[in-house]
Amino acid sequence: MAARDKVDDTHEPTAAAARGAFEAHEVEMADKQAHTPLPEQVDIAVIGGGAVGLAAAIALSRQGWDVALVGPPAGRRDGRTVALMEGSLRILDDLGVWSALAPIASPLATLTIIDDTGGLFRAPPVSFHAGELGLDAFGQNIEVASLTEALSDAADRRPGLTRVDALATRVSLGADGGEVTLATGGTLRASLLVGAEGRESLVRDAAGIDARRWSYPQTALTAILAHDRPHHDASTEFHTRQGPFTLVPMQENRSSLVWLVEPARAEQLAALDDEDFAAVVERQAQSMLGRMRVDGPRGAVPMSGLSVSRFTGERCAVIGEAAHVFPPIGAQGLNLGFRDVAALAKATGPVGSDPGAAARLASFDRARRLDVATRTAAVDALNRSLLAGFLPVDMARGLGLMALLAIGPLRRFAMRQGLGLNA
Ligand SMILES: Cc1cc2nc3c(=O)[nH]c(=O)nc-3n(C[C@H](O)[C@H](O)[C@H](O)COP(=O)(O)OP(=O)(O)OC[C@H]3O[C@@H](n4cnc5c(N)ncnc54)[C@H](O)[C@@H]3O)c2cc1C
Repeated sequence: MAARDKVDDTHEPTAAAARGAFEAHEVEMADKQAHTPLPEQVDIAVIGGGAVGLAAAIALSRQGWDVALVGPPAGRRDGRTVALMEGSLRILDDLGVWSALAPIASPLATLTIIDDTGGLFRAPPVSFHAGELGLDAFGQNIEVASLTEALSDAADRRPGLTRVDALATRVSLGADGGEVTLATGGTLRASLLVGAEGRESLVRDAAGIDARRWSYPQTALTAILAHDRPHHDASTEFHTRQGPFTLVPMQENRSSLVWLVEPARAEQLAALDDEDFAAVVERQAQSMLGRMRVDGPRGAVPMSGLSVSRFTGERCAVIGEAAHVFPPIGAQGLNLGFRDVAALAKATGPVGSDPGAAARLASFDRARRLDVATRTAAVDALNRSLLAGFLPVDMARGLGLMALLAIGPLRRFAMRQGLGLNA
């Protein structure tokens, strides 16, 4: 999929049209569910209807398994975007979802890292160009709400996939399968339960999977900004002493912002009106995109991390943020979640014998350990190295960036790693 579809403005939905479509979809879903009886037993029950759970439910049902997806539909548009790398786009394409998203996504052709720590040892800016890998773009930036909407539509159309619009309140696991109790009443049994319910995972807890949690003295501020100058499909990550400040290209001279700052500063910035906030962002971006104005909802997310001791338990597996959480640096989280989905679909295989058999789960666990551990460690180390403000640490980070600048094969290896193409 090297050549991505070009942007087609005539297909871009307005925010109002998108909201209208979302509401109409909710009514249609409620109507459909009122007429769809709850199955008592399925092959696989996926819990959690975020992007990862939706993708997993579609992928597993495409293998021929009888699947139920348990969880309320995704929330309203919050203006957050995700950068999805080439590996994830291939997965979405395989799931038949990419064609609906291509017209509203924005390509990431160049990724630039600028050391803005003000430290004594500062590396020069480093840029990575997709062309060096023979690609038009490393990936595409897309609003999370548009992504979940497209996945949700595909899930609704999928034969063999039942949507259950309810929270799970209890999960139990045994040698023969798992059971989910629903907030709306009733239970559902499955040979395999997949926990995709985010960081507070009932499946993970029921399986007794240890989760290590930690927090960072940072809050991520998010916003969409319109600007006077074009971004030329380039994403820029300024590494500041409080964390990365990243602008990711969107359509029509707009960019999405993810800015990690100390919680107290985040509170001050969040309290600014849109005009003052845009002026601060413009200054922080060294005015490289010209005058800026806020063009969508703003958000704030406290930064934390989570890693699990194993990805499976008896008759269950955990994927997405049920299994790994780390700060949004280098666009890794959801990309990793989609690779969980691909690995789970491969481990469970096409329909035939038991999807929750211990050997299949062991193969999924083995497949995910290294990828998840290395991404979690790399993001954590980079983030902490910025916060440390310690010369030897700055030097190590700076030398790493300079090596990437100078050594072509190393840079290309790092780019392929970032895209998830080596995973
Ligand atoms: C500011 C920010 C920017 C980011 N940018 C990027 C990026 O550019 N690229 C990237 O790859 N990643 C990015 N990420 C990470 C990415 O957003 C997450 O990895 C991804 O959203 C996780 O998806 P998920 O489906 O695993 O979890 P969630 O999105 O949390 O979905 C979990 C779902 O489960 C449901 N649920 C919860 N409990 C229950 C229950 N008991 N029963 C049923 N359902 C339940 C919830 O309602 C929700 O719908 C970013 C994260 C942040 C915070």
